[in-house]
Amino acid sequence: MKNTLDQDRNELYALGDELFIHPQLGYKEFTNKKILTEYFESHGLRVTDLGFRTAFKVSVGSGSPRIGLIAELDAIPTLGHPFANKDDYAAHSCGHSTQCAIMAYTLVKLKDIVKKGTVTLYFTPAEEFTDIAFRKQLIRKGEIRYIGGKVNMQAAGQFDEEDLLIHLHTMGQSDYHFSLNSALSGFVYKEITFKGKATHAAVAPDKGINALNAFVLFDNALNMLRETFREEDFIRIHGILSTGGQTVNSIPEKTVYECYVRSMNEKALRETAARVDNAAKCCAKAIGASVSIRTTPGYLPMHQNRAINDIIRKNMLKYCKPEEIHDGEISMAAGDIGDLSLFKPTVQFGYSGFAGNCHGKDLCIVDKQRAYLEPAKIVYDTVKYLLDHEDYVNKIKQDFTPAMTKEEYLAYLG
Ligand SMILES: [Zn+2]
Repeated sequence: MKNTLDQDRNELYALGDELFIHPQLGYKEFTNKKILTEYFESHGLRVTDLGFRTAFKVSVGSGSPRIGLIAELDAIPTLGHPFANKDDYAAHSCGHSTQCAIMAYTLVKLKDIVKKGTVTLYFTPAEEFTDIAFRKQLIRKGEIRYIGGKVNMQAAGQFDEEDLLIHLHTMGQSDYHFSLNSALSGFVYKEITFKGKATHAAVAPDKGINALNAFVLFDNALNMLRETFREEDFIRIHGILSTGGQTVNSIPEKTVYECYVRSMNEKALRETAARVDNAAKCCAKAIGASVSIRTTPGYLPMHQNRAINDIIRKNMLKYCKPEEIHDGEISMAAGDIGDLSLFKPTVQFGYSGFAGNCHGKDLCIVDKQRAYLEPAKIVYDTVKYLLDHEDYVNKIKQDFTPAMTKEEYLAYLG
């Protein structure tokens, strides 16, 4: 006999289709929020607004254990995607619309069976680190404090009462059926401005201070630092020189280097970011230039909770063979789910059913059973298990140590 998730699958697919064709960028996801709110209301569930323009949550049940589910609302600019928004090319080329449909449908189905415990589904805005000028405006207006949606929500303590968090993300086109225990890197964004003194480049270079040379010195220092990076920290520094100088016949007065510093290890990330700053300051000083550094926190590395993933794996194996699960992938991609994983036992698993590349104009859903129904059943079965085994949840909580204190986190965010 088919279970209840199978019976109403067309409702799930219709919700997914509706969300997929209404993409909006972070903090602008009002249409998806409306579609989801109406969906919940049609099932007798009320949504609670969480601020930050579009964040909201929906709960079923009461008391412990407390399980948090996470779905991302936002799209990403993708030129040429068939459903790209005409204003800013926003498209669901990262498949976040499918997360929202899966989690919303699963919560509605869980409503009927939760006897003890609470399941809260959080809809989080602005996971993609994009549309920065608009978000900086929002920061100036006080509507948000940080670029990433979950970062704002985490800093405001919105996940504090959860025992654990479950999230999922499409793998895009993949040879695997599912992925599990994948690591994600963390990053910070830096804008490093070297200032020198412009003079005639041919007549009076002796009277100038060459800001481009300060950068060249610094770039060499970065290369020398690279040999000190430990393999296990997966550190990457990559950037562009967005301003090289002002005119060829003058000594460059100003150069601007923009870069990301990435690592799989949050301590190494913070230490490396500090070493980059130190190198920039010392290299500028070495030739009499000055430097200003603007750092914008990106996201922190993702740590997966193995005990939760053990339950998810058992539920995945209802649909595939063990070798069809990609276990323990190390990805240099980053997401703001990483910030949450430092404070709560957290997982993000990957699902298939797509063709094309994530963030590509060709990303589309080709197998609805894999892209919607199977992940919904996996979340449903996993949550059901956790609600029925409070001792298992308590053990997960006991074994978990946060990677940093809230104070350290807020200090890091600046
Ligand atoms: Zn994504």
